[in-house]
Amino acid sequence: MERDLTDFMADTACGITDACTSCGACVDICPVVPHAGLANVPNETIVGGVLDVLRQGGELTGHAAAWAHQCDGCGLCIPACPEGINPRTMLMLANSVTAETHTDTPQLFRKMARAIRLMAAMQLDTDDMAKLLQPPRPRDVPVVFYVGCNAVRTPHLLFNAMYVLDAIDVDYEVLGGPAACCGIIHTKWEGEAKTGTRVTDGTLSRFGDFTPERVLSWCPSCQLHIGETLNGYQQTDFAFEHVTKFMIDNESKLQSLYRQPVPMRVLLHAHDGMADLGENVAQLLRAVPGLEIADIAWESGYTCGGSGADRSPGLKAERRAATLARAAQPDVDALVSLYHGCHGQLAASAEQGGKPVVNFTDILVRALGGEPRRDAFEGWRMAGDWQALVSETLPTLRGNGMDLDAQWLEDVLPDVFAGKEFVGGLEALASRR
Ligand code: SF4
Ligand code: SF4
Repeated sequence: MERDLTDFMADTACGITDACTSCGACVDICPVVPHAGLANVPNETIVGGVLDVLRQGGELTGHAAAWAHQCDGCGLCIPACPEGINPRTMLMLANSVTAETHTDTPQLFRKMARAIRLMAAMQLDTDDMAKLLQPPRPRDVPVVFYVGCNAVRTPHLLFNAMYVLDAIDVDYEVLGGPAACCGIIHTKWEGEAKTGTRVTDGTLSRFGDFTPERVLSWCPSCQLHIGETLNGYQQTDFAFEHVTKFMIDNESKLQSLYRQPVPMRVLLHAHDGMADLGENVAQLLRAVPGLEIADIAWESGYTCGGSGADRSPGLKAERRAATLARAAQPDVDALVSLYHGCHGQLAASAEQGGKPVVNFTDILVRALGGEPRRDAFEGWRMAGDWQALVSETLPTLRGNGMDLDAQWLEDVLPDVFAGKEFVGGLEALASRR
């Protein structure tokens, strides 16, 4: 019988428990440890609890739970392990095993999928909806642009990225939306490993339908799940890499296409946990005429949000305060975001008197002589007038086949915009039992 995802994860866990000596080097270097109240707990106690769950199943408890629950995916532990184990993967697996017994976010995928479709349908016309959410007919292309699920909430960033791919003149197809989920929600958040297998297998198979050389991800969670946690799960004929890597590989072509300077001094926001992607964007920005990087604000985690930096609120608050203090300096005109989740959080800080926030794709589009897509989501969130928003967007929603009750929509929108499903809320989008 063919090995499925649950077998792969069990084999990975087994390899980790066999190799781990409980030396605690990963705990020593881990920045969330003091914030999780573990500064005086012996390393072997913390690691031992994780290994027990990987060996025997069940739920993380006590010190091991405190560590794993706050792991923000910063990856600093990876080079520290003398046995060549990836402790980030170790905790990811332990959290997935725990979720099989207990999850704080039941029906997360269902709620998330509905929220994503709703937000996309508020912002996009039918052609753009189809481009992001309707599976294209398979054909042979060198590149698939895989936008994942959640980024569809902020579609302007994805269309900006497509503007750059179009400028490079690459033949590509777009795959994304909840129907092409990477499977991390089912596997890690819901503890539904069998469903996760089906979802991940389905998405990998759809990539293969296009016989691409490269699948370019946008979402850092997809990159982490497919590119790292499940690395080696399936033999594929394509490389799975981040879209910024592709842009770097085509940098000389991009530079030859820059048409207008973008005179701006920026603070680039990046994450320790995917430092290579932060470096990619820094390299891209340095080549933009007129633009100057005043500094890079490295924050913990691999992204902002509930699967990244927000898991360790104390550490997050420290690093964010440092970022905003640096952004307030006079040599910074704007803060530059990488990912959709970070963009939303940083933009919210700009509303409170901070510097403007732009995404790196806005800058690339401008340099190429184009006009970046409007960030409708942010404008609406800033206005916070849900009644006016309902009136404005009901016709677009209807055009996209969503005939919703105006009062229901007005009631549900604050939680949709706040992503409340990731903390167990947004029951209005759950299935009726
Ligand atoms: S990924 Fe970062 S937060 Fe998670 S265990 Fe490693 S060092 Fe700690
Ligand atoms: S550093 Fe490696 S061997 Fe040491 S406790 Fe962590 S995972 Fe185990």
